[in-house]
Amino acid sequence: MTPEEMVLDPFSFAADGREEEDSTGERPQPLTAAGALTEPLAGTVPPVRTIVLDRPPTPARPTEHREAVRLAPAAAGPERLSLRDVSVAYGDKEAVKSVSLSIHQGEVLALIGPSGCGKTTLLRTLNRLTELTASASRSGDILLDGEDIHDLVDTTLRSRVAMVFQQPNPFPMSVFDNVAFALREQSRKRPGKRALEPLVIDALRRAGLYDEVADDLDRPALRLSGGQQQRLCIARAIALRPEVLLMDEPCSALDPISTGVIEELIHELRRELAVVIVTHNLAQAHRVADKVAFMYLGDLIEYGTTNEVFEEPRATRTRDYVSGAFG
Ligand code: ADP
Ligand code: MG
Repeated sequence: MTPEEMVLDPFSFAADGREEEDSTGERPQPLTAAGALTEPLAGTVPPVRTIVLDRPPTPARPTEHREAVRLAPAAAGPERLSLRDVSVAYGDKEAVKSVSLSIHQGEVLALIGPSGCGKTTLLRTLNRLTELTASASRSGDILLDGEDIHDLVDTTLRSRVAMVFQQPNPFPMSVFDNVAFALREQSRKRPGKRALEPLVIDALRRAGLYDEVADDLDRPALRLSGGQQQRLCIARAIALRPEVLLMDEPCSALDPISTGVIEELIHELRRELAVVIVTHNLAQAHRVADKVAFMYLGDLIEYGTTNEVFEEPRATRTRDYVSGAFG
C-alpha cells in the first residue's frame, strides 16, 4: 500500500472490521487522493487514525516532472505483429483500407476513431476472426514474429493472438474450469485437475483476480461481478501465454471501479505481451496507451505516441477528433 492509500483507505473503517463488498460483488478499491476529492463518502465520518510510516513520506515532485514520468514511453520490446497494406472488405464495401502498422511487446496500442471506422474489423483480422464472416475478404500481409498468420493453424494463431471481447463471456462452468478449458484444449493428453492447478492459479494471479476467488475456485463463473468476469476472460486468454492480447472495448460494459482495475491490469500485462485495445473512450486511450492509431472511415489517419497524437496531431481530422469536435 502506498502512503497515499494508507491515508485514504476508507474501507478499513468498516464498523465490524471486515472488508465490505459493493453491490456488484467487487471488492471496493482504496480511493486515491484524486478519487477522494471527487467522491466523498456520503454519510461516513471516518474515525481518526494514527498512521505509522516506516520511512519518511516521499515529497511530491513538481508537476512538470510527474508529467514527464507519466508520458515516458514503455521500453518497447521486439516487434510481434507487422501489418503491411492490410485491407478488408465486406462484399464490395471496404472497411479497412491499406493499413500498415507495427505492434511491439511492452506496448499498449489503442485504436481510436468514431463508430463504424473499421477498428473492430482490423482487430478481428489480426487473429483471423474476420474470415468467419462469409462476405469478408482481405488483402495485404500480417506477420506474427515474422511468420504469415495465414500459414498457422487458426486455433494455434488464436492462442498466440488472444482476444477479449466487449461483453465478458465466461463459459457457464466454474472459475477453475474456465481457465482450465483453454489449457485442456491446447494439450494433446487431457491433463487432470492437479496438473492444471498451478497454471490456472498463475493465470488468475496475472489477471489480478486470484485473491478475490482463491477461497472457492469451483464457484460458477456467472456468479462473479461483471468486472471479475472480464478479468476471468483475461485470465483465460493469457493462460496460454499469448504474444498479443486484443481487446475490443473491454471496459465499455463495466462500472468505473472495475474499469480502473482493468486499466491497471493492462499496464501490467504489457510487460509480457503486446496489447491492442479498441476504445471509444479517449480518456482511457490517454491513460493506458503508449501508442495510438486513429482510424477514420477505414483509413489509418494518424499513428504515433499517445503524447504525439493527443498533444501534437499532424492531421486536422485527428486534431478535431481528439479535441471532441466530432465523435
Ligand atoms: P468500428 O469497430 O470502428 O465501429 P467496424 O469494424 O465494426 O467499425 O465496422 C466497419 C464497417 O464495416 C462499418 O461500416 C460496418 O457497418 C461494416 N461491417 C462490420 N461488420 C460487418 C459485417 N459482418 N458485415 C458487413 N459489414 C460489416
Ligand atoms: Mg467496434
